[in-house]
Amino acid sequence: MAATCLKCEYCKEDQENYCDEVQFVYNGIFWDGSITYGGYSEFLVVDHRYVVRVPDNLPMDAAAPLLCAGITVFSPLKDNNLLESPGKRIGIVGLGGLGHVAVKFAKAFGHHVTIISTSPSKEKEARERLGADDFILSTNPEQMQSKKRTLDFILDTVSAKHSLGPTLELLKVNGTLVIVGAPDKPIDLPSFPLIFGKRVVKGSMIGSIKETQDMMDVCGKHNITCDIEVVKTDKINEALDRLAKNDVKYRFVIDIAGESSKL
Ligand SMILES: [Zn+2]
Repeated sequence: MAATCLKCEYCKEDQENYCDEVQFVYNGIFWDGSITYGGYSEFLVVDHRYVVRVPDNLPMDAAAPLLCAGITVFSPLKDNNLLESPGKRIGIVGLGGLGHVAVKFAKAFGHHVTIISTSPSKEKEARERLGADDFILSTNPEQMQSKKRTLDFILDTVSAKHSLGPTLELLKVNGTLVIVGAPDKPIDLPSFPLIFGKRVVKGSMIGSIKETQDMMDVCGKHNITCDIEVVKTDKINEALDRLAKNDVKYRFVIDIAGESSKL
């Protein structure tokens, strides 16, 4: 976020990420008609109310994606009281840029973490490197059936179109499912919501500046960063091609200030 109105109910209650007039720092058209270039800019002039301090112990490059992926998964964990109530059974759908940070947070907060994925190849990574406790292959009906009603909370980080019905079956009766990522992401809600009892489906989009600072401080305390690949400016096209094939673990960070690798 680059700016919000500062006057509406959301701005007044530290929820300015839901302000109707929110201006994004990157790829937006600002109130004065100028285009915002975010991290691609040579320099930025910012209002102090939209600045976040990065803890000294975190490397800048691996901390950078926390400002997007990190806060996007932190905010719903916080809103659902999962920061200081360890021992819950949490499911994370999708192990990508958002999902891998969500595992780190959920483990740091003391929860039992299950990854739900369509890729069997991600099981080893999830369990061994990221410390997930369980793995469900969502394309395997027996596995899905055997884990029915086992989870207190599910964070759905998948950006591709998919049905929420099978995922909701994994929730306990009073469980909550939160959908994060693109605000207009295509989802199929089950057509008979009544069979899902008291389960709640919510959406969430990034987080407020206050929450983003809280998240950064938590990351500093637990040494949480994103897993990244740093590329120089002359490798951006290659990085975008690889991104289209899902070939990145888990975020590309562009070193704009650094010299190109050809020099
Ligand atoms: Zn506002």
